[in-house]
Amino acid sequence: MLDLVLRGGLVVTPADALIADVGIEDGKIAVVALAGSLPTESVRVVEAAGTIVLPGGIEPHAHIAIPVPEYWAGRPEVMSQPPEAASRAAAFGGVTTVIDFAGDLLLPPGVTRTDPSILASLDSRRSVFRGHTYTDYAFHYILAGPVGPPTIGQLGEAIQEGVSSFKIFTTFDDLRVPYGHLGAIFDEVARHGGIIAVHAEDDDIVTYMTDKLVHEGRDQASNLHLVHSSLSEDLAFRHVIGLARHSEVGIYFVHTTAREGVVAIAEARARNQPVYGEALHNYLEFTCEDYAKPGGTAVHTYPALKYPEDREALLAGLLHGDLCTTATDDYTVHKDVKLWGTTIRTVCGGHNGIETRLPVAFTKFVVERGMSLPRFAAITSTNAARILGLYPQKGAVLPGCDADLVLIDPRLTRTLTLADLHSDADYSIWEGFTCRGYPVMTILRGKVIVENGALLGSPSDGRWVRRKIGADILGRPAV
Ligand SMILES: [Zn+2]
Repeated sequence: MLDLVLRGGLVVTPADALIADVGIEDGKIAVVALAGSLPTESVRVVEAAGTIVLPGGIEPHAHIAIPVPEYWAGRPEVMSQPPEAASRAAAFGGVTTVIDFAGDLLLPPGVTRTDPSILASLDSRRSVFRGHTYTDYAFHYILAGPVGPPTIGQLGEAIQEGVSSFKIFTTFDDLRVPYGHLGAIFDEVARHGGIIAVHAEDDDIVTYMTDKLVHEGRDQASNLHLVHSSLSEDLAFRHVIGLARHSEVGIYFVHTTAREGVVAIAEARARNQPVYGEALHNYLEFTCEDYAKPGGTAVHTYPALKYPEDREALLAGLLHGDLCTTATDDYTVHKDVKLWGTTIRTVCGGHNGIETRLPVAFTKFVVERGMSLPRFAAITSTNAARILGLYPQKGAVLPGCDADLVLIDPRLTRTLTLADLHSDADYSIWEGFTCRGYPVMTILRGKVIVENGALLGSPSDGRWVRRKIGADILGRPAV
């Protein structure tokens, strides 16, 4: 017995887009059927004609409810927005699953890293989100600093428990995992069927350029792209790809920023190496030229925005397949915190963007560049689900999948103002951006959580999701 029928929408499956009905039962998609063919008596019916029915967005990269380092804000109590706010914004933006992080990203000054218990850290993150989250959620686990055998010995167990991706950094003082340690981590993660999410920058270049610009009095934040440069991305991506080839481990490059990064990923994929790339949607609109404008570092997320030709390479990569996913690196703070630091060493990263990714991507790709609807579903949902192990539970409009759906009305045009958005922030870099097409309904496991601008979900709706990556994803570039 169906609970909900979406009638007559343009339904986007991985293979096709067709006018159809979607029948939902017990939180799952039960059937995708010929339009008009499903029973509508004693069932809630949503008239979806005129809208596009897509898999709910999957946000593969967000930093929710973590401290903002006091050297940025001078206020140790400042945190990025809590899960209620982030997931509320996500839900309004058509996102139904958010992947955040467990493990310590940044430590207070004077605190040194110790060998963590991965499962304890997972539990503590789950307790921050449980009962406070409108969407489903999962966590990458952050491995930072010199990672020793006590930690590496826990990786298999963590993967068994449903944490299938591990984030590493190749730069930033106490975050950087030395290259010598990566081989052992890569081997162990490969052996147990996990994937490595990498923030790849060449630490020598970053350190050298920071010192050089400070010495020359050129350390204004508008020069961030000279520190976190295209050369740095080129060298670091290729180094990581080379190490990964030896361990036969899958790599997910978070926030690709430069043409060089796209090319390095494409070359690895052409050699049949399982390497996947993400782009953030602020990098699809803004460039390093925006840094010099008043308040221009509001658009900044680390590593750094590059030049217009890099923006074009990221757009082309998502359009044609060298890149796989869009993300936000959501890390929402108030404007005074975001703009507090004004130098290359103090500027705040992070993007208040979890709500705008789908409508911005729809506008840029489907409307302006003729992207097919299945490809749009892939770069906003399906690919993240497959690469990071949520598929087939999530990421597609197919029978058996969770009924996580977003309805986009392509007839709506909306020039964004702060009042349109639902995060905790008091600014948005997307104010003034004209979206052509906008989410009008978001459904989480069969429950309508947002409808026509009204929040119908509850912070107790969200559940933690156990992940397991398909063997095809880890064996070759499968998406
Ligand atoms: Zn991040």
